[in-house]
Amino acid sequence: MNSTSVREHWSYSSLNQLLNICSLQWAFQRLYRLTPEFKSASLSFGSAFHRTLEWVAHSRKEGITPKAKDASALFDDLWRRQLEEDGEVRFADEEDADTLSIQGQSMTACVIANADPEERMLEVNRTFCVPLVDAAGEALEKPMVGEMDCLVETRGEKVIVDWKSSAKRWPAGKAIKDLQPTTYLYTASLLMPEQHIRSFRFDVVTKTKTPVFEQHLTMRSPEQFQRLVALAKIAEQLVQHELFYPAEQGFYCGGCGFQGACRAWQRSQTRTLSLAA
Ligand code: SF4
Repeated sequence: MNSTSVREHWSYSSLNQLLNICSLQWAFQRLYRLTPEFKSASLSFGSAFHRTLEWVAHSRKEGITPKAKDASALFDDLWRRQLEEDGEVRFADEEDADTLSIQGQSMTACVIANADPEERMLEVNRTFCVPLVDAAGEALEKPMVGEMDCLVETRGEKVIVDWKSSAKRWPAGKAIKDLQPTTYLYTASLLMPEQHIRSFRFDVVTKTKTPVFEQHLTMRSPEQFQRLVALAKIAEQLVQHELFYPAEQGFYCGGCGFQGACRAWQRSQTRTLSLAA
């Protein structure tokens, strides 16, 4: 299989999955395109929650202050529809569609309660495609594509914001190491240099009984942009040579829909390839 012909671009989530989550999961999903055995409820939940926050952000951009009850009702509707769309969804212990609906509605209300009325919503869902240019000025074959959740102006500064739902509060230092701010601030430096966007913020809501809203602001240097491109080069090598392996001591196996294929991986990679063809 000519893997480079399958992948025409990078995205933050693709690069992060390959390098930091599990290269074998990346290959099953994005290269061999196996059908997953199930979808984790947390992924379905994240999609519905994200779409609800998009509505909240669009409302704010239009100068409307969204009401918590409207946003919560929207979440419930989107969540039920998402479950229908996703088909085989696997819930964690003590979770079902109803408990997660209540959870999502409570998280949505938490976001609205914590909204800064002084913050100006400039853009929502901005898509991008930029070249990955190394220190020598050479562009990699595949560009970086993606979508920014929103761009806000707060206290006179423009900040890229990404929304996250999380099982628990983020540990200190997570935002500093994350590849997403590096990717998005690199993109902004190429696409919008005149706007001098230096900061990226994660707006995180916890999936706890009483949701907590927290913001993690972070910045990146040009040196880190070069590091990103260097990582993308390594990723291209991994894909070209199909150097994929299971990361089964990580945190991601429980929600992975490729557990059956993973168990068989060592027996015959050739068989896996033929199944994917
Ligand atoms: S089950 Fe775990 S190790 Fe196997 S592909 Fe999925 S995430 Fe990777």
